[in-house]
Amino acid sequence: MSFPTLGLMPALVQAAGEVGYFDPTPIQQAAIPAVVRGQDVLGLAQTGSGKTAAFSLPLLQRWAQAPRHRSRRAVHTLVLVPTRELAAQVGETFRLLSVRLHERPRIAVLFGGLSINPQMMGLRGGADIVVATPGRLLDLLDHNAIRLDAVQALVLDEADRLLDLGFAKELGRVLAALPARRQNLFFSATFAQAVEALATQLLHEPLRIEV
Ligand code: AMP
Repeated sequence: MSFPTLGLMPALVQAAGEVGYFDPTPIQQAAIPAVVRGQDVLGLAQTGSGKTAAFSLPLLQRWAQAPRHRSRRAVHTLVLVPTRELAAQVGETFRLLSVRLHERPRIAVLFGGLSINPQMMGLRGGADIVVATPGRLLDLLDHNAIRLDAVQALVLDEADRLLDLGFAKELGRVLAALPARRQNLFFSATFAQAVEALATQLLHEPLRIEV
């Protein structure tokens, strides 16, 4: 199987090739067609499986094909991650894979541990794709620096670590700020009871992928 046969547009296939992705990994083969269709996905996958591109490629396509929203500050895709390192890495993957799109998305990477002011300034022009740790995202919401009421797609990446790091309460508050109708992608390396409960709460008829 190749990236074009999974339903990806040429601009994304080209960008994938430029970062050295020629053959989709198993999780990419399973997830990309489902995400492109708008289906929810539950992925049981380790780091190293290629899960980041498994959600970023098809979500870039959803963004590129979505009607442009009137509000300039409307976030289309929200990715929640447990750590700043992962936030930086996922944001960079979105950036690299978006370089051949006719219109490039504005990508914001938001995490704690440094001053909130530059992040607030950076959000003034709006953001299409936001990759964030939950605590800093809530701070920015509380400052009215970001709006999440038009989010079309939510990704929980490394959901088990999000819960291990005690982000359950923050997650609840973020979820409350999102519209009810949206696409949900859920990735976790392990599937403990708390993870299962969160997945059940979030996902609607998901495609379940184990790699
Ligand atoms: P991840 O599981 O998302 O952390 O990705 C693991 C590593 O695999 C990263 O270094 C990616 O750049 C790389 N990768 C992801 N998809 C592919 C692919 N289709 N072909 C080759 N390398 C890939």
